[in-house]
Amino acid sequence: MNKVIVNSGLKAFDVEKIRSDFPILHIKVHGKPLCYFDNAATTQKPKVVIDKLVEFYSSMNANIHRGVHYLSVVSTKAYEDSRVKIKKFINASSEKEIIFTKGTTDSINLVAGSFARGKLRDGDEIIITGMEHHSNIVPWQLIANEKNIKLRVVPITDNGEIVFEEFVKMINGKTKLISVVYVSNSLGTVNPVEEIIEAAHNHNIPVFLDGAQAIQHLNVDVRKLDCDFFAFSGHKIYGPTGIGVLYGKEKLLNELPPYQGGGDMISKVTFEETTFNTLPYKFEAGTPNIADAIALGTAIDYISGIGIDAISKHESELLEYATEKISGLEEVKIIGNAKRKSSVLSFVIENIHPHDVGTFLDFEGVAIRTGHHCTQPVMDRFHIPATSRASFALYNTKEEIDVLVSGLKKIIEVFK
Ligand code: PLP
Repeated sequence: MNKVIVNSGLKAFDVEKIRSDFPILHIKVHGKPLCYFDNAATTQKPKVVIDKLVEFYSSMNANIHRGVHYLSVVSTKAYEDSRVKIKKFINASSEKEIIFTKGTTDSINLVAGSFARGKLRDGDEIIITGMEHHSNIVPWQLIANEKNIKLRVVPITDNGEIVFEEFVKMINGKTKLISVVYVSNSLGTVNPVEEIIEAAHNHNIPVFLDGAQAIQHLNVDVRKLDCDFFAFSGHKIYGPTGIGVLYGKEKLLNELPPYQGGGDMISKVTFEETTFNTLPYKFEAGTPNIADAIALGTAIDYISGIGIDAISKHESELLEYATEKISGLEEVKIIGNAKRKSSVLSFVIENIHPHDVGTFLDFEGVAIRTGHHCTQPVMDRFHIPATSRASFALYNTKEEIDVLVSGLKKIIEVFK
């Protein structure tokens, strides 16, 4: 494995050391070393995160918030400490703005359900883009069907960028929310969210950012971005599955009704009436995912220790290297050529179905994702049924990309 030590004002980036932190990267698949390029679907976990889960269940496990005994106090503190870490990581103004959810999908459903109940009326409009993940389409559609809300979709170019002028034209007096993906999971496009937010705020329209593919690659500062909502999933940022975050501006969250009812989200319950808890608990009904929330804090400590800027630089180098190598293969066409891209490389190969590509590469030890990536409208836009997608993370190397490219060359030869 190569050893990349970069030190140009950024923290030293030692890929070999990083790889040694991830136990799963050392397994063999079909007798070959694993090259894991399915990071946009989920990332692998460093040992510190795995250890934190074991530590929680071995020495801290208790339900939080309502207990006075030792373990409950310890677990409550660890859970709330994790919220503070997340607040700092995305530079929110207050812990009250950090709601633990199951993940990005859950966060979007929370806002869709709550916003619809509290803020939307017949005839209102919501703007999304043509490159949304299904989880930023379907929750809005469900509401649109119930409440006679119109969903408007910003078109995308052949390069996989939004048509900004069309977006601006769509904004009107009926627009109540703009919900866009920060980084596309199937095209890699980094959307111009700063400009989108500015245009929306000129009309006092709140903006929801789906940050599922942004949080692990870019420096996210919700105050600088001035987004109104931001969602991400723990499992895509080297944390556990089943835990995620919804950030919302305190004022807006206070204006929204609760999404789910149950324990912990109440202040006083009688059979006649219930009053609700303050933020963030108003949106955390029932026993939360305590262990995974705590381990997400550990994942955030882990990547903060390396530094997002250093990670981002490493991943950009990988993307550039892979793009150059893969574009050199005549039979391969890259889908998604935006000027600003994150480390996602989607492609199709002439006359070979992506599933065959994925299966063939698996026998070389290479894990990529094939299919529509939960973005069927993107596939329709490019008139393809599916793509093959390699997505890079902090622990990937150029040598692994060479294995991918050599696998692609072999399959092209075989299918000839
Ligand atoms: N949005 C984007 C852009 C994604 O890539 C994903 C997952 O791949 C999601 C939303 C949904 O995330 P989750 O399944 O973790 O809720």
